Amino acid sequence: MLIFKQIKDLKKHLQSTDNKEKPKGFVPTMGALHEGHLSLIKRSKKECKLTVCSIFVNPTQFNDKTDFDKYPNTITQDIVLLNDVGCDILFLPSVSEIYPDGFTDNTKINFGFIAETLEGEHRPGHFGGMAQVVEKLLKIVRPDKLYMGQKDYQQQIVVQALIKKRKLNLKLVICETLREKDGLAMSSRNIRLDANSRKLAVEISRTLQGVKEAVHQKKSEIYTIEDWGRKQLESFKGIDLEYFDIRNAETLRSVSSTNEKMVALAAAKIGGVRLIDNMFLN
Ligand code: AMP
Repeated sequence: MLIFKQIKDLKKHLQSTDNKEKPKGFVPTMGALHEGHLSLIKRSKKECKLTVCSIFVNPTQFNDKTDFDKYPNTITQDIVLLNDVGCDILFLPSVSEIYPDGFTDNTKINFGFIAETLEGEHRPGHFGGMAQVVEKLLKIVRPDKLYMGQKDYQQQIVVQALIKKRKLNLKLVICETLREKDGLAMSSRNIRLDANSRKLAVEISRTLQGVKEAVHQKKSEIYTIEDWGRKQLESFKGIDLEYFDIRNAETLRSVSSTNEKMVALAAAKIGGVRLIDNMFLN
């Protein structure tokens, strides 16, 4: 695997391979890699001639400085894992490489409701910062296919809107969420959970699963099921619930009919670690 730290070197290399190594797949990450990340690399490897992964903990998408400071860094192990799955290129830029002129964003897109609700409400500015770095990375890598996880459900909705607004010529491929044996969604943040928090963390996916089963059984109205899910998670001492909502899977608006494609989304802090998860309900 080739590792590039400078934009100009990566661009030069990619230009020299551009016509031969198509399609080109891209997997942006923040590192502390786990099987979920690796599943995206494997999918890209299957569908593309060249796979580029980036590791960059983007300061502009963190509204909470402690969360940014405590974000896990396991770069030596990440490089081993990427090598093992046969990733072709790792882009590992510094903050000043990506933001040579500071963090101001003069090209900010207004995504409206999809970026203001749920995560947007609890992490103001998060999606602006995320879109800012994704756009920068896409301009550098110029992939044919971009691989992202369903785990960050709202993120992929916003990235889809970014692709549309900027008329980018690439396909967004969404990969299913990889989970631990007990159902907990894999996340870089999981390594920060202490034993008690780790035990509690499984309640998020358990509740999502319970809500999904309740929807399938059609025994109650959607808002009753949503209320049950919310109360269920709130009942655990140690789970600090930020939201538990059932939404339209495309618009993220509240659902008015069960004919709509529905997704349940949750965010909670457990032992000071912020976790998110989601599940399609139909
Ligand atoms: P992150 O490093 O957390 O920014 O994640 C990088 C990419 O990996 C994003 O597209 C995530 O949605 C995806 N991802 C994170 N966790 C998982 C998971 N458990 N299963 C599948 N994809 C994931």
